[in-house]
Amino acid sequence: MRAKPDASRRIARFGELGAVVATIIIVAVACGYAYPDNRPTGVPGQQNGKLTPSVLTTVTSRCKAERNAGADLRRLIASARTAGITLAPAECYRDYAGQVYWRNYWCNLGRCQMAAVPGTSIHGWGKAVDFDNLRFGTREYEWLKSYAWFYGWNHPGWAEPGTGSAEAWHWEWVGDGGTMFSGRADGTSSRSASEVAPSPVDR
Ligand SMILES: [Zn+2]
Repeated sequence: MRAKPDASRRIARFGELGAVVATIIIVAVACGYAYPDNRPTGVPGQQNGKLTPSVLTTVTSRCKAERNAGADLRRLIASARTAGITLAPAECYRDYAGQVYWRNYWCNLGRCQMAAVPGTSIHGWGKAVDFDNLRFGTREYEWLKSYAWFYGWNHPGWAEPGTGSAEAWHWEWVGDGGTMFSGRADGTSSRSASEVAPSPVDR
């Protein structure tokens, strides 16, 4: 014969179930605009890789970014620091000449897929960051996976492990809603997905 759980145990079980359900709900809704398929929008009135200095902000000596993306990146880096995590951008905005350089570099190694077609890189909009020495499975990467969404930063699906173009270090800013939620967040109503000129691998 099985003993009946007493009332307090049943209540405790309800409590556990409630906590599990609450956790699932929180995880489901609390990722902001961070989705594998969400991509940054372009910058209205600007050309990729040829941004005028007024739309850029200096985040660190090695990182200029689009103003809104850069402001969120500063907050992201500061928040990480309080958690004992050091995030150092190696590069953010990449001008057209820089995109040509990296495309040639990788194509010469027979790996064109590692660099965007010049003029299509998200770095050319100032809305991507490559973190120095960031690798999958590290504390830094796991922290970003947990918290970057809160600052509008997303790890795109094409850069995930097992894709053939995996890049732990490459993160993109979709804090204005990105292509998936264009127009739902402040200041995005005039932007459209077509401004991004997406390509299969677009960094
Ligand atoms: Zn990148």
